[in-house]
Amino acid sequence: MKKRIAILPGDGIGPEVCEAATTVLNEIGTMFQHQFEFVYGDLGGIAIDKTGNPLPKETLTICKNSDAVLLGAVGGPKWDTLPGEQRPEKGLLGLRKELGLFANLRPVTIYDALADSSPLKDEVIQGVDLVIVRELTGGLYFGEPRERRGEGKEELAVDTLVYSRKEIERIVRKGFEFAEIRGGTLTSVDKANVLESSRLWREVVDEVAKEYPNISYSHMLVDNAAMQLVRNPRQFDVIVTENMFGDILSDEASMITGSLGMLPSASLSEDGPGLFEPIHGSAPDIAGKGIANPLATLSSVAMMLTYAFSMTEEADVLSAAINDVLEAGHRTADLTSDERAVLSTTEMTNQVIQAL
Ligand code: ATP
Ligand code: MG
Repeated sequence: MKKRIAILPGDGIGPEVCEAATTVLNEIGTMFQHQFEFVYGDLGGIAIDKTGNPLPKETLTICKNSDAVLLGAVGGPKWDTLPGEQRPEKGLLGLRKELGLFANLRPVTIYDALADSSPLKDEVIQGVDLVIVRELTGGLYFGEPRERRGEGKEELAVDTLVYSRKEIERIVRKGFEFAEIRGGTLTSVDKANVLESSRLWREVVDEVAKEYPNISYSHMLVDNAAMQLVRNPRQFDVIVTENMFGDILSDEASMITGSLGMLPSASLSEDGPGLFEPIHGSAPDIAGKGIANPLATLSSVAMMLTYAFSMTEEADVLSAAINDVLEAGHRTADLTSDERAVLSTTEMTNQVIQAL
């Protein structure tokens, strides 16, 4: 197959981890006889430096004409003094909006070899393999009205949690689809004992569920879900939830692994290109040193293979290779305190290629 991939290295360690990604994609292309074509674009701070705009038109065009987008990271201290509207992060928000990315996926996988870095006990986290599907374009973040009114002690601040049936349907359907792909179960998280929007959410889940008679699903209140994630995370497979609940739960879930440099994400639209990126930031403290952990980005590539290209065998081979290098004891600096055993970004990438 031939696939065009927009590569947006961005700032900080972004270019270093993206180079790891293209190296590995080339290897997979050779192994499975695919042609991956890379088209590079600027986003974030580097785009501000070159053009004054964190999301140049040209970058947007490149992304829209691609089959998938891979992003390194954006931002850094150099641009922190700019006014909010001109920050690197605005470029990413703009891109998400322009591409209509309404479904955010954050898988949480525990690698046995790294189980020690989890703050939770071994027996609690062993075998955890879940994904949080967060609605990204609705809910409290965008609902109107959002305003201040009144004065003094009577002053009010208003946010609005609003969801249409249509918005709920499309994200819930994604949740069921992913449960189907993974051969797993779905947990829908809401606050239906309090919120009207959650009662509609629950109704829609029950309706959409009829289209997926083979998927077993359940409802869970968000406060309970927050508790269950640390009490017994293994009970979850796919979790689908609205924007703010998903924001909070996905950060909670990512911390149970204890390894920020390992976690990927995907943001998907109805039928346009999806965006794949590590959940870590630009890590300005280690940028340019060649020591960044590339595995979160390589896992994001595995998600791209699965969700953008339906290349599940290729994705499985890559995920297995990542697991193998960890099992063999290979570590970047963020994963170990043993300085003698530390690999550079390039060395770690080469180990993954060997394992492939
Ligand atoms: P952002 O605001 O962009 O999310 P942040 O300041 O919250 O950024 P990161 O940039 O992710 O967080 O960095 C947090 C810490 O984790 C830093 O010390 C950084 O060096 C480390 N870190 C993040 N990603 C990696 C990686 N891939 N490899 C090694 N260390 C990393
Ligand atoms: Mg951060």
